[in-house]
Amino acid sequence: AALAALAEDTADGATSDGHGVQLLANIGTAQDAERLTDAAVQGVGLFRTEVLFLDAQTAPSEDDQAAVYARALTALGERKVVIRTLDAGADKPLAFVTQPGEDNPALGVRGYRLVRAAPELLATQLAAIGRAQAETGGRPWVMAPMIATVAEAAEFAALARDAGVHTVGVMVEVPAVALRARDVLAEVDFVSIGTNDLAQYTMATDRLRGELVDLLDMWQPAVLDLVAMTAEAGVELGKPVGVCGESAADPVMALVLTGLGVTSLSMSPAAVPGVRYALRAHTLDVCRQMAAAARGALTAPEARAAALDLVDPKVREV
Ligand code: PEP
Ligand code: MG
Repeated sequence: AALAALAEDTADGATSDGHGVQLLANIGTAQDAERLTDAAVQGVGLFRTEVLFLDAQTAPSEDDQAAVYARALTALGERKVVIRTLDAGADKPLAFVTQPGEDNPALGVRGYRLVRAAPELLATQLAAIGRAQAETGGRPWVMAPMIATVAEAAEFAALARDAGVHTVGVMVEVPAVALRARDVLAEVDFVSIGTNDLAQYTMATDRLRGELVDLLDMWQPAVLDLVAMTAEAGVELGKPVGVCGESAADPVMALVLTGLGVTSLSMSPAAVPGVRYALRAHTLDVCRQMAAAARGALTAPEARAAALDLVDPKVREV
């Protein structure tokens, strides 16, 4: 009953002392976007567009894509929709583009790097997003996955702006980009941290290997440090830094991310009420104390325990 009551709450995300943190949804289709119409989310923080084309045998046309993006933008109205350009690779194969036979697909031609092999694919997608923006008057934010260098970020931003997209960003999934977050942010309007891949690449641990979950842990202090560096750069440059990996759905982690300076949290819609409730039960200062306590730990379990120690007892019960 308590959880049902929480689910009816539609307030914007904020700490108890009024520090706003946008609560956003991760989606994979236009239908997902339409289901959000009444949901208490402030927008979409990650539209995984490769989901649209998992069964396609040929590259989707600009018309087909523009129609899908327009549907999603129309469903969200004034709310922002962060559209990620195709994140295909040997782990998320798309018949029309994935290169077969890579020994290390997670380190190979995937995400933004596909622009080397198939530049027209990205050009078509950006043109479709630009058209959907113009036709609907909606608010697409577009971002590229698997960016590794400042040059790639700048190149992507130029392509997206040429296509007429107003708000352009990149994902922080590769440690190299977190280490140079200030320079990357200078080229774009925002960044979004993909903690699934950031943990995988920081800890050199395949995210598909279940027996290595202790290494593939967002609470690893080294991963927290890279998130902190990225968030600090965002605060310094006055640009949004979101998190759209699964970790944002953990209410305790959400508090730590807020304390680190992250400005939006994107997750599966079902996780939003719990995170909203946890945020509202803590001040920004307590979130900062949690972040400092977690980063001060030497192991992932100790980091989580240190943060949890500062969580309000009424939140721990939910
Ligand atoms: C991530 O890597 O955290 C992310 C959000 O992207 P995906 O899970 O689709 O790789
Ligand atoms: Mg990723």
